[in-house]
Amino acid sequence: MIEMHDVWKTYPDGSPALKGINVKVDRTEFLYVVGPSGAGKSTFMKLIYREERPTKGSIFVNGFNLEKLKQRKIPFVRRNIGVIFQDYRLLPKLTVYENVAFAMEVIEAPKKFIMKRVQEVLDLVKLSDKGGSLPTQLSGGEQQRVAIARAIVNNPAVIIADEPTGNLDPDTSWEIMKLLEEINFRGATIIMATHNKEIVNTMRKRVLAIEQGEIARDEVRGEYGYEG
Ligand code: ADP
Ligand code: ADP
Repeated sequence: MIEMHDVWKTYPDGSPALKGINVKVDRTEFLYVVGPSGAGKSTFMKLIYREERPTKGSIFVNGFNLEKLKQRKIPFVRRNIGVIFQDYRLLPKLTVYENVAFAMEVIEAPKKFIMKRVQEVLDLVKLSDKGGSLPTQLSGGEQQRVAIARAIVNNPAVIIADEPTGNLDPDTSWEIMKLLEEINFRGATIIMATHNKEIVNTMRKRVLAIEQGEIARDEVRGEYGYEG
């Protein structure tokens, strides 16, 4: 599903943020990315959803080599990746329904299909009664569930979650984790960067630790490995 071969990333004027990353993530996997602040976790994730380009090396997502992608194939690869952030990043002037529908409109999905599918994913995240609300009228956990609905609405093969529970209390964080686990169970690969020790140590999934731009650990049923 995702492969990196000797991937380096140096930002302009910076020292290398990633130094020779080699990794392979299978379709069914749920992968935690852990490590100290500034270690390169976000950069690792941004390379996968093509927010950043590597300085060197090759990255494959869903069989496509991101560095050799023809321009016209880029939207196709992008829509196969859903992204979730710590700060939700919902469009503040659009309702819950509109935020989710927007993700389908940009890929020009048929209008009839949009209504049906948005309802379906709002049901999945248990927000079907909040479609008409604005993001500011929702709790943090509800906003993150909208962001998850938006991320999965086009049925992507991969979900990238960068500290999705970072702003949430423990109970709400667990609700979000249950949802992500369900989405993984339904067939999406999940890659999640986190500082949440309790979640990583309880869920016991694959753990990739990045330290100073390098893979320090890659464990099948791993632990967080740092002080909480
Ligand atoms: P993490 O997500 O683990 O905190 P990042 O990937 O955000 O780490 O950052 C890795 C390194 O790259 C850090 O030294 C950071 O300062 C640097 N960095 C990240 N983004 C940029 C950028 N846009 N421009 C310059 N340097 C950056
Ligand atoms: P289908 O993919 O044909 O809709 P599934 O049984 O795979 O059927 O999925 C049932 C429901 O689960 C879907 O209608 C959708 O709401 C949700 N779903 C499907 N695939 C994903 C996915 N990759 N991520 C999140 N939710 C999904």
